[in-house]
Amino acid sequence: MPKYVPEPFKIKMVEPIRLISPEKREAAIKKANYNLFAMKAEDIFIDFMTDSGTSAMSNHQWSAMMMGDESYAGARSWFRLKEVVDEIFGFKHFVPTHQGRAAENILTNLLVQPGEYIPSNMHFDTTEGNIRARGGRPKNLVRKEAYNPSERVDFKGNMDIEKLCSFIENTGVENIPFGMLTITNNAGGGQPVSMQNIKAVSELYHEFGLPFFIDACRFAENAYFIKLREPGYADKSPLEISQEMFSYADGATMSAKKDGIVNIGGFLAMNDDTLFQNVRNELIIREGFYTYGGLAGRDLEAMAVGFKEALEVSYLDYRLAQTAYLGERLIEKGIPIIEPPGAHAIYIDAKSFLPHIPQAELPGQSLSIAMYKQGGIRAVELGTVAFGYTDPDSGEEIFPELDMVRMAIPRRVYTQSHMDYVVDVLTEIAENPQALKGYKITYQPPLMRHFTAHFEPL
Ligand SMILES: *Cc1c(COP(=O)(O)O)cnc(C)c1O
Repeated sequence: MPKYVPEPFKIKMVEPIRLISPEKREAAIKKANYNLFAMKAEDIFIDFMTDSGTSAMSNHQWSAMMMGDESYAGARSWFRLKEVVDEIFGFKHFVPTHQGRAAENILTNLLVQPGEYIPSNMHFDTTEGNIRARGGRPKNLVRKEAYNPSERVDFKGNMDIEKLCSFIENTGVENIPFGMLTITNNAGGGQPVSMQNIKAVSELYHEFGLPFFIDACRFAENAYFIKLREPGYADKSPLEISQEMFSYADGATMSAKKDGIVNIGGFLAMNDDTLFQNVRNELIIREGFYTYGGLAGRDLEAMAVGFKEALEVSYLDYRLAQTAYLGERLIEKGIPIIEPPGAHAIYIDAKSFLPHIPQAELPGQSLSIAMYKQGGIRAVELGTVAFGYTDPDSGEEIFPELDMVRMAIPRRVYTQSHMDYVVDVLTEIAENPQALKGYKITYQPPLMRHFTAHFEPL
């Protein structure tokens, strides 16, 4: 049996959950047009839809919230947050935003012109959506191993440096406003990026004079993978490793709903003074004054504490081990997942799990619906529904290389027995995968269709 590291906390408050009957589950998913985003959360037993904003805050965070200073400008809570963000991330400037996509919205609104390209290892869906909304083209250049789910590589989120170099040369720097890197690589299985790779990406972007922004949502988990796996970092603290990671970048977008362990919050950071002035103006129009950015003072307090808690070794050790436990147990049962397990989620390889369902018939969507019907589990399709698109040049339907179902694990929320229950439900499905059928889309919006699309079984 894989090792389960005991939770480094005890439970002081509980929130009841319930498993409704199979008949009620069947009716509920149908009523939601077979879109798990459209369901009532109360009808879900284990909610693995996202680790974003779903974490349990600590007693320290809740007590910090009582100290929130709700002054409009220059609140004490802003200075508390600033001290922590300056220490960990070390950029010259930052503004709070209500979540990660608000930071992406402001950055892309200011820097991306129609037809321009933004390279990254892999963009997350909101980043892609924001770039496309400005007429820009997101470009994914992750190492090729990332597309082979069963291949075990320590830093499977790394950028392919050679591909990045020829991409910049062929595209022309004048068509690239800035470069990005996502740590850990959420869209590619939550896989980490090595320090060596962050440094090499930074050097290459800078050689071409391109500003380098890190999508920093899971910086603490990435730092801990570096500590565990990269030579020379075993004796460094997650804080020191984080400081080094960000020292190579010119800015960052952050969703504190991930490694800020809060229910809402984020920021946009940068070194460039002129960009900061423009960001501030943009923030004031869209989010709020630059010392609160669309958040309450108490939210800033919770973030300030959460960023530090996310870097504690006891927490990170438990966090990575819990996810690995779920992943290794599924592998034992013969269920194909992206290997090795990342930190925040387990990604089931739906293409391998359901080879009888072609990508055009949405195998990931089919599996996520089956998981709900079988055991009240909510996971999210990250495959053809989320990442398939119509090519603006050829008008052709493009399928992503991977069709996955992501089980994202909220921080400090579920226990070992919840993990075991999920393994049991998936084992039951794996006994007769042929019973699962394909789906078709009956409604879709132009961007980020997975959130609101309607489906029908074939
Ligand atoms: C969640 C996430 C975002 C967007 O953040 P929100 O707070 O959900 O707006 C961007 N990038 C990555 C890698 C993410 O995981």
